[in-house]
Amino acid sequence: MDKLETALQKYFDYDSFRLGQREIIEDILAKKHVFATLPTGSGKSLCYQLPAYMLDGVVLVVTPLLSLMEDQIRQLKKRGFKQVVAINSFKTASERALIFNDLSTYKLIYLSPEMLQKKIIKQKLSQLTIALFVIDEAHCISQWGHEFRPDYLKLNEIIDQLGQPTVLALTATATSDVQQDIVNHFDTIQFNKHIYPVDRDNIAFMVQNVNNRVDKDKFLIDLFTKLTVPTIIYFSSKKESERVALLLSEKFNQLSIAFYHGDLDTNERLLIQEQFIEDQINIICSTSAFGMGVDKQNVRLVIHYHLPTQIESFIQEVGRAGRDQLESVSIALIAPGDKQLPLKLILNELPPVDILELITTHMNQTNQEWIQIVPSMITDIWGLNETQWRFIKNFFEETGILIDEDKINIKKITPMLRRDFIRKVEERNRYKLRKLNELFEWIDTKDCRREQLFKDFQTSVRSAKYHCCDRCGFEVEQWSPESVVRKQTASSWSDQLKSVLLPFKVGGIDNG
Ligand SMILES: [Zn+2]
Repeated sequence: MDKLETALQKYFDYDSFRLGQREIIEDILAKKHVFATLPTGSGKSLCYQLPAYMLDGVVLVVTPLLSLMEDQIRQLKKRGFKQVVAINSFKTASERALIFNDLSTYKLIYLSPEMLQKKIIKQKLSQLTIALFVIDEAHCISQWGHEFRPDYLKLNEIIDQLGQPTVLALTATATSDVQQDIVNHFDTIQFNKHIYPVDRDNIAFMVQNVNNRVDKDKFLIDLFTKLTVPTIIYFSSKKESERVALLLSEKFNQLSIAFYHGDLDTNERLLIQEQFIEDQINIICSTSAFGMGVDKQNVRLVIHYHLPTQIESFIQEVGRAGRDQLESVSIALIAPGDKQLPLKLILNELPPVDILELITTHMNQTNQEWIQIVPSMITDIWGLNETQWRFIKNFFEETGILIDEDKINIKKITPMLRRDFIRKVEERNRYKLRKLNELFEWIDTKDCRREQLFKDFQTSVRSAKYHCCDRCGFEVEQWSPESVVRKQTASSWSDQLKSVLLPFKVGGIDNG
């Protein structure tokens, strides 16, 4: 056993590295910058967590995924690693102040990109020795990435300010264009590239066309009458995830079924995740909120009751099946009109084009030049959600209208600027629609679904280890997976679970 394996065994209790991990970690320890694409579920986080134990200095991880941060910290603490902390909007100002006091005692610090823009944080970080700067979800740098985060564009500058530590840029799904975009963005950094394929040869793909929601429900009921395997069903609507969870619970007494979405509190969510991992819950009806950081090996089936808004998200969600490399299946249920819901989601992500007029009208009443923005203005007066506000804020920053994070100069919002803004919103909208169309073209494809799904992400796609796809002749009837029976719940768990599942038992969900 060499030094790295010894460390892996000592800190994580694993016997061997997964694909790519060793090569990436060796480069990092040799102070080489690394750009890596590793598929979902392949152990991306270990690539910086193990170095955090081994390096002198701090490992900084920038990630937009707040729940993933919290999950990873919980898991690390469970393993006995206490020198880890997250700085994000979940923390109150006083909690943050406490963290800042002890900042030098941490080995691994998770940060949201928004937090990293704050002066006080930059100043505190500059006093530390940063051994490794990790850019998680690196595709957020690219305009053409599926989740562009304007704040990611400023990472370059921050890396310089921190004295150019070793950089690790990681992503699970980036097309070759996006990969190039990421590397180009950091023009002063020479990356060693580790690109691993994202395709999954153990998952069979199928699309089931149905007439309506009733048929989707019926399909699920028929399917679960025949098989019981660990399953995630994805929805775009919280209400629908609850409705179907209730419906299936009523039909299948012997199965344990839960819904999962952003309205549940952290404890409920953690509980459901644990239960699912332990096979105490069979089926999760969830929004896209579920899956990040849930390390479950034997998910056999991922069903899309609704589709996400782009292929990258679809690949990530499907990729939660079959991490144990055994045969697994992806089923997308499609009814006429199914494009409407993702269309609505896309529209909801972009600010209304006339928002600048609303903002100037509102601000003009105060008669001041620089006006401080408070959160209630954003949500209550302007009616914006977080994503919409992020878009506007970035535009304001780029055009010098916003300074010190929250002061805007109303006089600078000229008619010309308003036109620029509208052009920007429209451009983004077109891009999003194009991404959505890609996904629907995939739904309609007559060719092999596996090849079509992964073709933009890698030069060649492996052939299927088990079944391939419906276009290549796969039917779900051919699939006979081993049943996973529900495990007995420990009493304390069971009591806690009741509180989560209670709505099912009493049928008290308001379906509106
Ligand atoms: Zn095929």
